[in-house]
Amino acid sequence: MKFETKLAELGTSPEKHEGAVNTPVYRASTILFESLADFELSEKGQYTKGFTYGRYGTPTVRALEQAIASIEGAQRAVITPSGLSAIVATLMAFLKAGDHLLMVDTVYGPTRRTCEYELKRFGVEVTYYDPTIGAGIEALIQPNTKMVYLESPGSLTFEVQDVPAIVKAAHAKGVLVAGDNTWGTPYYYKALELGMDISIHSATKYISGHSDFVMGTIACNEELYNTLIKTVRNLGMSVSSDNCYLALRGLRTLAVRMPRHFESALKVAKWLEGRPEVEKVLHPALPGAPGHELWKRDYTGACGLFAFQIGKRSRDALAAMLEGMEHFGMGYSWGGFESLLIPVSPEKIRTAKAWDYDGVTLRIHVGLEEADDLIADLDAGFARLAKHA
Ligand SMILES: *Cc1c(COP(=O)(O)O)cnc(C)c1O
Repeated sequence: MKFETKLAELGTSPEKHEGAVNTPVYRASTILFESLADFELSEKGQYTKGFTYGRYGTPTVRALEQAIASIEGAQRAVITPSGLSAIVATLMAFLKAGDHLLMVDTVYGPTRRTCEYELKRFGVEVTYYDPTIGAGIEALIQPNTKMVYLESPGSLTFEVQDVPAIVKAAHAKGVLVAGDNTWGTPYYYKALELGMDISIHSATKYISGHSDFVMGTIACNEELYNTLIKTVRNLGMSVSSDNCYLALRGLRTLAVRMPRHFESALKVAKWLEGRPEVEKVLHPALPGAPGHELWKRDYTGACGLFAFQIGKRSRDALAAMLEGMEHFGMGYSWGGFESLLIPVSPEKIRTAKAWDYDGVTLRIHVGLEEADDLIADLDAGFARLAKHA
């Protein structure tokens, strides 16, 4: 079955829901057992007929889990309360005191904070590695290395990682490979086919697509799932059926929305490349961009998120540009229908390899608006920027 067809059919079972096309929202904490025998089976963790307690899922949650597993090409999937909690659960499920983690230097900032403030506190050793390391990762693998963690392209700076090369080196030494694949989306990036053992998404972004909830997903095989689900449950992670319903609804149009984000973002990126105010555009799908060849090899498209550098600018000039934007909002997150523009500071975060740009870097999310409207908005923004130079 083609991906688009899966999106139209996944997670539906009208025969179980009075013919309703969509799996309804089951709001539940208590779920009643029919007999003492069933209750006793549940106490022993052996009840398999249905549901036992709201925290462990409802039919709505299960429908989304199955949908995610299917589009990720995985045996199983777990839904968590946020993208970050999916990351935290993965790190905690497979690492313990004395273990070593290889973490990409360009990782999403809050993931890095989890490593610094939580993992290290629990005795896990963390080494940050250059995102462009490729097969060179082998030299960093220690006898106690348990996991290599990837995020490609890099948060804020968009370096594409050579995932198959890293996977090969890691697997040769029995090391698990987990990755945050939010940028690639399950539509444009087949993380498990490329060899990752565990694929993580912030469903808050394109799976939602509508900026109205936060959620995370983890996809993997049955064996890893059995380890992972225990930790997810022991950490008390639980998702609401309401949000799972919204996620399923967002998924239906994923393959319709993504090409629009891809095309519009590329159009805006090419326009930015030609502007005198712009020193560099950081977008892996642009010919000549760092990592472009890897992107072409491993991805079938790109999302609406990238960055560009505009040199040294005064704070007043930046404020005039950003505060006057008509179609771009200033806000965290991305992947929704709306366009966003914020300044970012990658130079403050890196430790493995310095990012020595000392000008202003802007991260842009190109939403579903008409690209020409966005270009006109940016054009006017540059005019305001110039006035304050
Ligand atoms: C937003 C984001 C996350 C965290 O997701 P939340 O749902 O906000 O917790 C993780 N990784 C990447 C790459 C992100 O952009």
